[in-house]
Amino acid sequence: MDAAERWDVIVVGAGAAGLFAALAARGGLAADGAFTPPASDPRVLLVDGEENPGRKILISGGGRCNVTNIRVSERDFTTAAPNVLKSILREFGTDAVQRFFEGRGVPFRCEQMGKLFPRSNKAGDVLDALLLAAQLAGVERRFGRPIETIESVAADEGGWRVDDAVARRVIVATGGRSVPQTGSTGFGYQLAQDLGHTLVPTVPALAALTGFARDDLAGVTLPAILTVVDENGRDLGRAAGSMLFTHRGVSGPVALDVAAAFERATADGRKPRVLADLWSLADRTGAFKRYLDDAKAPGACLPQAPRAMRPEDLEKTILDAAARGPKRQLGTRLAKRLPRRVIEALVPAAGTQLAQLTKSERRATATSLTALDLGVIATEGFAKAEVTAGGVPLAELQRRTLESRLAPGLHFCGEVCDVTGRLGGFNFQWAWSSGFVAGRACHEALAHG
Ligand SMILES: Cc1cc2nc3c(=O)[nH]c(=O)nc-3n(C[C@H](O)[C@H](O)[C@H](O)COP(=O)(O)OP(=O)(O)OC[C@H]3O[C@@H](n4cnc5c(N)ncnc54)[C@H](O)[C@@H]3O)c2cc1C
Repeated sequence: MDAAERWDVIVVGAGAAGLFAALAARGGLAADGAFTPPASDPRVLLVDGEENPGRKILISGGGRCNVTNIRVSERDFTTAAPNVLKSILREFGTDAVQRFFEGRGVPFRCEQMGKLFPRSNKAGDVLDALLLAAQLAGVERRFGRPIETIESVAADEGGWRVDDAVARRVIVATGGRSVPQTGSTGFGYQLAQDLGHTLVPTVPALAALTGFARDDLAGVTLPAILTVVDENGRDLGRAAGSMLFTHRGVSGPVALDVAAAFERATADGRKPRVLADLWSLADRTGAFKRYLDDAKAPGACLPQAPRAMRPEDLEKTILDAAARGPKRQLGTRLAKRLPRRVIEALVPAAGTQLAQLTKSERRATATSLTALDLGVIATEGFAKAEVTAGGVPLAELQRRTLESRLAPGLHFCGEVCDVTGRLGGFNFQWAWSSGFVAGRACHEALAHG
């Protein structure tokens, strides 16, 4: 074997998690986000199948990259091991991320729901900062050739073989299987299974929902609470936020946030439906705006999605309104909150005076506005999903190092693991935290022999 092919650490995948892992493996990154170009060992090679990796960073957040959130907790994620997740998030938190990027010339701005974006609004600045830091840290790169084989070899041969190179430790940061043209094809899942790991089944997450294709509503945006229910009406997942009716179904943050629950329930044969409450958050007194802004207050907990209003409660509101103004039309009353197009499309009794409404008209109106069955039949799938839910279970990795319990010397980080954030910068935060933990673990293990 050529001496040049021997490395201390090989990081496979140069996305957000792999870039951070490589910096930490070199010893250039402190837990508080301080970056100092290291002087010497270990020798770290970062490999990626793409000529120009980091494409997910470039397309993220509509080209603006929602780098993290002002407040992050394990409750913002879905995983089978929330306690392990919590401890890893603590190792490199949102403050450390801000310190790192600000120190590299990328200051942030906080937007609704506590989302942090680069002040320049350019995702390219985030990627450039990472690539430059990797260069300054002395991380060697080899891009444009996908890795085909990772296998364990004798310790005196290196410990791990990665195609034609060997290394004492390997970090797998190959991402999930969403938007595969960015290079993330699910390689890490197959590797994990070949090594004997189980996998939490993977499903697309953060994808638009298809099915409710009503041209009369396409283009309407309004705040909504979406609830995924099973055939018995049991709540399988819920989110609140802005929703957009499209020509194919529904999109917007709230639709994306329930996609994984819908996919998971479909895969389990539970015949899920997605119900929309268009009424609760849509008042003009600013309740929704307050809901969005809540997360900006330092120390405030991120808002959890409220429960949808029960149709019978809206029926009662309509009855009360009828008592106060019997001659007013239902549509006029509803227009205080809802766009005209929504009322025209969903409320056939809109032109009826409040006092003249029948019980069944009140019931139908209340059901359409608080428990509207969106007729969802699918999500846009892996082709468009922002992330992949499921993956390598954290329980099969060492808690402090993300090293495989089955394959010592091999670490996993980023989206390949069974951790899925909701919309708002949480998926990148997981990539930074887990990349840091895996990289630091390699650095420390090599330093101690
Ligand atoms: C459209 C879109 C918008 C998004 N917006 C946001 C956002 O604003 N905020 C947020 O928090 N999250 C966002 N996400 C999610 C976020 O991009 C991912 O969670 C994050 O990029 C995962 O990082 P990763 O490093 O684990 O994986 P990836 O970024 O997927 O990187 C994996 C890398 O591994 C390489 N690779 C794979 N297999 C091999 C192999 N066999 N050999 C060599 N290299 C290999 C790939 O080429 C790739 O470069 C968005 C995702 C998408 C698709």
